[in-house]
Order: sequence, then C-alpha cells, then structure tokens
Amino acid sequence: MSAQQTIHVGGEWREAASGATRDILDPADATVLAVVSEGGTEDADAAVVAARTAFDAGAWPRTPVAERAALLRRTADLLIRNREKIALLESQDSGKTLEEGRDDVDRAADTFRYFADLVTSESGGRVVDAGSDTVLSVVVHEPVGVCALITSWNSPLLQAGRKIAPALAAGNTLVVKPSALTPLTTVDLIDLLAEAGLPAGVANLVTGAGAAVGVRLAAHPDVDLVSFTGGPNGGTEVSRAAAPGVKKVALELGGKNPNVVFADACATTEGFDTAVDQALNAAFVHSGQARSAGSRLIVEESVRERFVGELARRAERIRLGRGTAEGVECGPLVSAGQLARTEEYVASALAEGAVLRSGGGRPEPSDERSADGYFYAPTVLDQCHRGMRVVRDEILGPVLTVETFRTEDEAVALANDTAYGLAAGVWSSDPGRARRVAGRLRHGTVWINDFHPCLPQAEWGGFGRSGTGRTSGPTALATYREAKHVYQNLTPHPTRRFAG
Ligand code: NAD
Repeated sequence: MSAQQTIHVGGEWREAASGATRDILDPADATVLAVVSEGGTEDADAAVVAARTAFDAGAWPRTPVAERAALLRRTADLLIRNREKIALLESQDSGKTLEEGRDDVDRAADTFRYFADLVTSESGGRVVDAGSDTVLSVVVHEPVGVCALITSWNSPLLQAGRKIAPALAAGNTLVVKPSALTPLTTVDLIDLLAEAGLPAGVANLVTGAGAAVGVRLAAHPDVDLVSFTGGPNGGTEVSRAAAPGVKKVALELGGKNPNVVFADACATTEGFDTAVDQALNAAFVHSGQARSAGSRLIVEESVRERFVGELARRAERIRLGRGTAEGVECGPLVSAGQLARTEEYVASALAEGAVLRSGGGRPEPSDERSADGYFYAPTVLDQCHRGMRVVRDEILGPVLTVETFRTEDEAVALANDTAYGLAAGVWSSDPGRARRVAGRLRHGTVWINDFHPCLPQAEWGGFGRSGTGRTSGPTALATYREAKHVYQNLTPHPTRRFAG
C-alpha cells in the first residue's frame, strides 16, 4: 500500500521531513487500512511557521465576519455532501458503526453552522459607559492567534470540527494534530476546508505521535493557544509544556459518568423498558469508548435485581461485528491497547468481588477475518463499589458497573464521588426530584431522562479533573478570542499631574 501524504503545511500536502510513515490499522481485523506520514518536531515547526505567517501577514484574521461565516457554512455543506464517504472512513478507522459515523458527520456539520450563525449574530463591539460624554469606550473581541488543536481517537472528526469551527469563526489560524491512531477523517476535513475556499496556511495539519508533534506544538513559542482533548496525563503534560509561554490552554479530559436511576422511573412497564434501553445506550455507544459513556449505573436498591437482570439479558444480545457491516450494534475497540486495558480492568474488578452478569471476555468472531479484531463483549459488572478501580477510572471500553443506593442523598453522594465531572444522567418520573438532583450534581452536563445528547449551542466540558474550558456554545467561541478594551478620549487635555 502506498503512503498517503498527510501533513498539510501552507496549503500543500507533503510527507514527513524524516520520510517516516505509520500504518493505520482497521480495528475490526488488525489489517493495514492506510499508511500515513509520521510527522515529527520539524514538521510541527514548519506548520507553526505557516500558521504564524497566515495570522501575522494573511487576510484571514481581518476577513469580514460574514465571509468567514460563509466559509464555515460551505464546509458544513461539503461535509453533508461527503457524508457517506466520511462516515465509512470514520467507521473503518475508529471501529465505530456506520450509524455512529454518520451521526458524527451530521454533528460536525451542525457545529460549523452553529459557529457561523453565532459570529454573524453578534453586533460587534460592546460599548461601555465610561462615565463621561467625552469618552467612547468599546470592548471588542479579536482572535488569539495561532492555535494548536490536539485531538484524541474516540470521535476524531467531531472533535476536530468542534475545535476548528470556533477557532476559524474567531479569525485564528491553526495547526491540528489528530490522534496517531485515527487521523484519516481529519485529513479529509482539511481538504474540505480548502475546497470551501480557506486560504493556504490558515489550517495546517501534522499527523504523528503526541510525544513528538503534540509536545512540540504545546511548547512552541509561536503558538498562542493550545486546545487539547485527551486523557488526564496528556492534559497535565500539555499544561506544563504551555506554562513557560503563558499560553491559553483549554483541556477536555476524561469522564467517569454516572447514570442514576430512581425506582419511580421504572414504575410502569414503558418507563422500565426506556430506562433499561437508555442505560444500554449510555454505556455501549461506540463500544463504551465515548467520552460521555454512562459507565457507572447507580440504581435504587429496590429495583436493582429486576433492572440489572434485564440489562444483562439485553447486553448479551448486542450484535458485535465490524462497524461497517449492516445491523452491527457495537464495533471493535480502537486498538490492541484499549482491548488489553479493558481486559485488565474487568479482571481486576472480578478479583475485587464484582459479579459478572454479562460479557466479560472476547466474543466469538463474527467472521473469519475479524478473529484478529479488537472485540470485547458488552460487560455488566454487578455488586460494585467505590473502592474498585473499575468504578473510579475511565476505561473507554464496553464495561458497565452497577452500584446501588437507598436514599436521594446517597445517590447524589455516589454520583459526585469521582475525580471527574464531565456528564451524568438522572432517571425519575418525578420532575421535582430530577431537577433537584440535577442541581446537586457536580458535572458539566446533566441529562434528565436521557443520555448523550450534546448540542452545538450548549457548553460541553467538565468539572474537576475532566478539564478546563468548554467546547460548544458561546463559551467555546470566547476561548478562541482575546477581549480588547478601546478607550477613546474625544476631547483630550493635559492632566497637569507632573511638572505642569
Ligand atoms: P491521549 O491523552 O493519549 O491523547 C490525546 C491526544 O494528545 C493525541 O493526539 C495524542 O497524540 C496527544 N498527546 C498525548 N500526549 C501528549 C503530550 N504529552 N503532549 C501533547 N500531546 C499529547 O488520549 P487518547 O487516549 O487519545 O484519548 C482518550 C482520552 O480522551 C480519554 O480520557 C477521553 O475521555 C478523552 N476525551 C475527552 C473528551 C471530552 O469531551 N472531554 C472527548 C474525547 C476524548
């Protein structure tokens, strides 16, 4: 298989300066799906030079907002026009099902449209009352400069879109570095931006490892902002690397998201069925590798046995297979590393006393080719408690733990007992109770009687070790901007304060 040039600098595709390449594996069978350029520090430096030049001397930061918005809308249209192709590539690269891939394309397109609408809806500067008729005081917002956008493997296209759209809307230039495991749809996105008319040098891309490219981008003196999505260790290292340059840093880190089910939500047959169904959806979308995965079920003791019994019965029936195959509900894990991590966590949980109710191992391959794929059966672990690593740590695999509570206070205490604070779900037929509990949860998003929905217009991000800053919503746009106060004295006169 010939190598693809996947480093984009100043509008040109090129190979790595070192000539190095990396095999991208199809997680469904561990065969080589593509060969990409393995960038290094030299490539990161070249991309930053291109982005710096485009920011300091190019037209983009000064392009009228309406034109920038029009480009974002054209990008959204191109995403939708190429929906099937990109969804297929995302599915092959990350193991997602085709349906999940299509959903990501749609949500990425929505994100580009949202930020186009947001910037054009603004009235420009904010006039502030300076307390004098002879002063005109205005606060304006300007782009931060060169942004390094570092993304992880679990929703590569969507994550890239959620960083690139607000960064471009605000007038920045950028270098994006996707995960070394799943770079392919980000490469396509850069092509679509060029097709939409983005000037050369505004959006650059370097494929490669975090330890080489990511570290260099985070530390580079000509980078003004680093937006990082990944694990807590990478986030800490990025913060450290960015600190000497006093760069702006936005971190979207992990989550260990509780899904709290009150017995009243299960009082009717329909309510019970919905809560069980949504608990499966919460835990096993993208084989549990979504950052929003509801991997901690916290269910009221009185309904536990019935609830977990039905949950396990349905988890056993989930159809596994390659994400591109028709009717498949769960694809493979993204890598051998994620598979090994999942196996290790389940083994540790069983050693610590968890009770296996479904899954717990690698399934029979759905076809001969997938015998080497990174599949793991949807797993339900009952009788878990907060002392267990499997309850405390983010796994990013199809593993659902079950804890129980007797009182509302206990439910809240359990759900908040996590170092993270990304997202949580509450199931109750009592709206007052649901809102009361939602108000007490220390998580960046709380779903009531639902799980997973994220809106481009609503902030997404975490409390605690889930990160700093927010993706989506007006806060995301603010991340990519500097506020500037322009104070204009309309009738200047001497102060006579010094030697006057
Ligand atoms: P990771 O931290 O290993 O890598 C993330 C990205 O950072 C990759 O591009 C990687 O190459 C790069 N990187 C790694 N170390 C780096 C360093 N020291 N300096 C600069 N760059 C570095 O994470 P991952 O395994 O790719 O992704 C999984 C994690 O991402 C999970 O914890 C998941 O919850 C989190 N995540 C969070 C959100 C969110 O919205 N909060 C969204 C998606 C993923």
